[in-house]
Amino acid sequence: MQYTSTRDKNLHLTGSQAIAQGLSPEGGLLVPENFPHLSAEDLDGLKRVSYPERAARVMSLFLDDFSEEELKDFSDRAYSRFDTPTVTPLRILNGNTFCLELWHGPTCAFKDLALQMLPLLLTSALQKNGEDRKAFVLAATSGDTGKAALEGFRDVDRTKILTFYPQNGVSRIQKLQMVTQEGNNVGVCAVDGNFDDAQAGVKRLFTDPEIAARLDDKGFFLTSANSINWGRVLPQIVYYVSVYCQLRKAGAMPPDGHMNVCVPTGNFGNILAAYYAKKMGVPIGKLICASNSNNVLTDFIKTGTYDRNRTFYQTISPSMDILVSSNLERLLFDLSGEDDALIAGYMDQLSRDGKYTVTEEITAKIQDQFEAGFCDENMTRLTINSMWWDVNYLVDPHTAVAFQVLGRYRDRTGDESPAVVVSTASPYKFCGSVLEALGASGVANGGAELIGKLQNLTEVPAPAPLADLADREIRFTGCVEPDEMAGPVLEMLS
Ligand SMILES: *Cc1c(COP(=O)(O)O)cnc(C)c1O
Repeated sequence: MQYTSTRDKNLHLTGSQAIAQGLSPEGGLLVPENFPHLSAEDLDGLKRVSYPERAARVMSLFLDDFSEEELKDFSDRAYSRFDTPTVTPLRILNGNTFCLELWHGPTCAFKDLALQMLPLLLTSALQKNGEDRKAFVLAATSGDTGKAALEGFRDVDRTKILTFYPQNGVSRIQKLQMVTQEGNNVGVCAVDGNFDDAQAGVKRLFTDPEIAARLDDKGFFLTSANSINWGRVLPQIVYYVSVYCQLRKAGAMPPDGHMNVCVPTGNFGNILAAYYAKKMGVPIGKLICASNSNNVLTDFIKTGTYDRNRTFYQTISPSMDILVSSNLERLLFDLSGEDDALIAGYMDQLSRDGKYTVTEEITAKIQDQFEAGFCDENMTRLTINSMWWDVNYLVDPHTAVAFQVLGRYRDRTGDESPAVVVSTASPYKFCGSVLEALGASGVANGGAELIGKLQNLTEVPAPAPLADLADREIRFTGCVEPDEMAGPVLEMLS
């Protein structure tokens, strides 16, 4: 299995090289050159095994320079820190609506599924490629990635990790989770800007020759934990294979049935993994892309024009406050028939003019498989409220966006196929917004004490990793301008 770049098909890498590099030198994203197919028999076999075994089997189809034993060992370790043996429990809400809870890992967001795995893949990939320098992991975060990456890389040998987060773009709980991070190889710094500023700053650091030289002097090289790394996308494909197995096992879907999936989307990594699972043969019908008021993807899927020149909204679902969804590039590469020059052109237009329009043919292919909708702040709050009082199910604002968008898709189309809503964060990560939506008062400037308040109100137990947040020591207080992000990197080296 070889990997190539979305902007240069002359490149050929092994799986471990793709993971070790993160990004292609010319700025493209690394993608598999072909996709393995899962037959009905394969899926049936996967239905019978545990989540870690499913993960090892699916990943081994893409990573032939890792042994199956090695991958099984990694997935046993990665998923042992989840609070349930099923890893990704499926909640049945009614006959045809299911919720896949992806937040049972150590940081209570779906990023753990990939970021508990990535450090194991990455350090092994470095070894396999005779890399004797150490990895300096740099991440921009809209809230959840940073914490999940810090927790995944914490005290991992031969690595250091630094994460940047937008100063006022994450929830209090998220911020507290990051600034209290433990470990001897970790750094956390705020950026005076939004997520796109932080992400653009990280991208600049990656192409800054002076930073590369300074790192090299100290025996390090830069690598990424953002969802542009293939080692992030691959473990996410696993849970879409797994949810099909779970539905079949629960008797909730006939052998020839299909499921729609509805995914609260930001950087397009999660829903891209669903698309890849569908491409591999998992019976997925519509891929429903749910956005908040930052609805650049809704417009794109409806029109074929991607236009980031618009107001940026800070919402109560901050992990979706994104105007440039990096992983869309991988989808466009696939749907264009792997036309690297075309994709390079689009990305060039995006960085020059902030917009591009894909061909009619690509637009048609997108609309054939994807549906899109968005949900504003009021609707998000109303959905949290009604999900709790009507269905007795507590959801975070990101998941609420997806429920709302699914409901409207069903109203519009009458498509009542079994649908899986992907729940990407524990409601306790956003307890201020959740409490407000439930009608609680006096929560406006609350911090970690709101966890207890939400627990008292709902009697839904808070996840263990969040319960003692208020007592942890604050270790990181720095904040820099977007053009000063090299500073903290150099500081961590000295
Ligand atoms: C990261 C994140 C998202 C967006 O996922 P993408 O893969 O970036 O599309 C949605 N919800 C939550 C809670 C997240 O942490």
